Amino acid sequence: MGTLAGRTALVTGGSRGIGRGIAERLGREGALVAVHYGSNREAAEQTVKVIRADGGRAFAIGAELGLPGDAQALWAAFDAALAEHGEGATGVDILVNNAGINAHGRIHEVTEADYDRVFAVNVKAPFFIIREGLDRLRDGGRIINISSGVTRIAFPSITAYAMTKGALDTLTLTLAQDLGARGITVNAVNPGIVATDINPWLADAEVRAQVSAYSVFGRVGEAADIADVVAFVASDDARWVTGQTLDATGGSMLGV
Ligand code: NAP
Repeated sequence: MGTLAGRTALVTGGSRGIGRGIAERLGREGALVAVHYGSNREAAEQTVKVIRADGGRAFAIGAELGLPGDAQALWAAFDAALAEHGEGATGVDILVNNAGINAHGRIHEVTEADYDRVFAVNVKAPFFIIREGLDRLRDGGRIINISSGVTRIAFPSITAYAMTKGALDTLTLTLAQDLGARGITVNAVNPGIVATDINPWLADAEVRAQVSAYSVFGRVGEAADIADVVAFVASDDARWVTGQTLDATGGSMLGV
């Protein structure tokens, strides 16, 4: 039996990339997984298919984030799908706030619209997903925010994006204090560069080689590198860890 048997997990942005890796891993551990997507239903259904093929349980839920009322829409979709597929399960044990977008540009290149959009998806949405989800989240549960190594390493070419992840780290610390009495841990997992759709420029072999050198291991990350860390944080073994940002950058830029 997996370490998460009997638990229910919700992974935002579970349709692709890191979120898909997390959803698949939690599914392998025995959790019932709600695989959230924004617009790409087919990709979410594919994730569900992989989890089921592995003997796990999962269902897809859609909700576009970054719009007014997005968190309520997500939970309404979750409640409806859980009633249909949950075999009597109620509530949620593990909430992974993974869905996110990038925003390119040094400060003078960032438009007000770009700024508002990246904060709406990366910060406002997780904040209200947690707020609206508190009654559904069971005591002893887990909130895991997917942040980024850019809160430790300066990347001026993505200033606004980096700021959103700084906000997530602060939310993580603050909420951990607030929710401890309920036995809920709140942690952030901070990936370095991972080969997903968000980084299409990794297709350029020269650039890929250049950024691979950021890590002491000399490669970029894969979704599974992050998913394995999330699985640990989600497990009972991590019950004494809260309010932390777990660097999962493959030791990127440790020295000068
Ligand atoms: P990705 O491959 O582009 O996948 C993004 C996921 O988020 C998709 O499932 C997408 O859903 C969902 N999503 C995006 N915008 C959404 C919106 N407005 N509403 C609802 N869902 C939305 O990205 P990724 O690389 O896996 O990134 C996942 C997380 O890791 C993000 O928070 C990112 O900031 C963080 N991160 C990534 C890296 C990296 O190098 N890849 C490094 C550090 C941190 P659809 O499939 O429906 O579009």
